[in-house]
Amino acid sequence: MVDFDVVVLGSGFAGLRAAIAASEGGASVLVIEAQADVGGRSQYSSAGIMAAGTRFQRALGIEDSPASLFEQYQRANHWQIDAGVAYRLAYGCAAEVEWLADHGLEIKGVLPSPDSDVPRTHRTPGGQAIIELLRTRARAQGCEFAMGRRVERLVVSDGVVTGVATADEELAAGAVVLATGGLGGNPELLERFAPSLVAATGDWLAPVGGRELARYAPGDAIGLAESVGAVLAGLDMWEATIRPGYVEVSSQMLPGWIVAVDRSGRRVVDETAGIVAMQSAVLAAGGEVYAIFDEAARQAGDPPPTPAGASRPRRINPDWRPEVIEAMARDGKVARAETLSGLAEKIGVPSAGLQATVARYNGFVADGTDLDHRKDPAVMRPIGDGPYYAVALRLGSVAYTSAGPRIDADAQVIGADNAPIPGLYAAGECAGGVVGMHMAGNPVASCLVFGRVAGAGAAQFARGGNPLVSPGAATP
Ligand SMILES: Cc1cc2nc3c(=O)[nH]c(=O)nc-3n(C[C@H](O)[C@H](O)[C@H](O)COP(=O)(O)OP(=O)(O)OC[C@H]3O[C@@H](n4cnc5c(N)ncnc54)[C@H](O)[C@@H]3O)c2cc1C
Repeated sequence: MVDFDVVVLGSGFAGLRAAIAASEGGASVLVIEAQADVGGRSQYSSAGIMAAGTRFQRALGIEDSPASLFEQYQRANHWQIDAGVAYRLAYGCAAEVEWLADHGLEIKGVLPSPDSDVPRTHRTPGGQAIIELLRTRARAQGCEFAMGRRVERLVVSDGVVTGVATADEELAAGAVVLATGGLGGNPELLERFAPSLVAATGDWLAPVGGRELARYAPGDAIGLAESVGAVLAGLDMWEATIRPGYVEVSSQMLPGWIVAVDRSGRRVVDETAGIVAMQSAVLAAGGEVYAIFDEAARQAGDPPPTPAGASRPRRINPDWRPEVIEAMARDGKVARAETLSGLAEKIGVPSAGLQATVARYNGFVADGTDLDHRKDPAVMRPIGDGPYYAVALRLGSVAYTSAGPRIDADAQVIGADNAPIPGLYAAGECAGGVVGMHMAGNPVASCLVFGRVAGAGAAQFARGGNPLVSPGAATP
């Protein structure tokens, strides 16, 4: 006798989508959430969603297909994602975006995505709106919620996962879905599973959105899954956004008027590039770059460039407002000097290297062509008279991590014998190796697609179905 057919751990996008799919499959469902509020990190998400072949793209005249997304997803991730998993994600995400829209979510446009040939990032009103929609639907279908209860242990009988245990209670379940989110809030797990990020960032590291979001990303799926013999995937795969050290929560969009140099004074990137190019450039530079600019640029404080397809012009990133830079310079958190050589000395960069870079950059501004990094000349400013400024930048904000129990295309957790562990499913950021290093909007897409697949599969298993019959078989 079970307490619930399906128990879902976590109430973010993945957990709620799984709960809805499980109850649609006829299961009684309990969502257990460690925190007091529903929504996890998902509720704070910008919630751009990767999808290919949607009616929203077609309405904008964008030709796209899941086949093309699959190819690009795999190429961007160097084919390190299991192809079956990437295939289901690529072919399943359009249906999820349209499902959300059919249930009332406004799709506000489709933006270009850094790794894609075609615009694929479906803009939404944000994470809170999606959580609200999912929570309302889950409740309407009779899903129950247990809040403030952290699952500490999985119960196993004869190799089958048959329940969960919190500190003071054990529940019998027909199947369990892990949807406990990422591990970006757990410094020890980050050391173990994202060592390159930790090495590059040091003590600047914080979850994107700030340290108060760390509580939603304790990485619990790792220990829970390992305890029942699961294998892990997605090791050292992550995405992080760049920020100055003087703020903890920052927009990743940098202004066009900075010149980003490495420790030799060499310019390393188009400073307005997207997250993928920026992440690679900063890592290749050893984890830290300096944004160099002059007094005129500080005072002008032009906003970051507006991407093609955006509905309104970008406003200035608050971290780069003239008065903020001034205050930080006075506090010693931004380097300032009257001469370029003085600035070079302050930040430990060879003066000749920095001066040559600035002269070359100024030449590009005058010629209207950035021959080194192809930045849009419209947003470039020459570096003229002092005082001069240098802001240290690192990949300080963890957007997502990818390490967790390996799943197959049916969201079943895979054991050490390379077979699914009966009764155990995983979805969302905790499902190992589904979101790789790159592709805008893939975490949310993966939460929705594998949430649905996990919930449907768990319901089928709990109600006596064959776990190896693909619940996602109706979609490719
Ligand atoms: C500011 C911000 C902007 C973002 N922008 C985008 C974007 O535009 N596009 C995109 O694709 N991605 C984006 N992301 C990433 C994406 O939103 C997340 O990867 C995704 O929402 C994670 O959802 P989840 O359901 O896997 O986990 P979460 O939403 O984090 O939910 C996990 C839940 O599990 C609970 N939990 C953990 N352990 C236990 C346990 N042992 N027992 C019970 N409950 C437990 C947690 O408390 C949490 O509530 C963004 C993230 C942030 C923070």
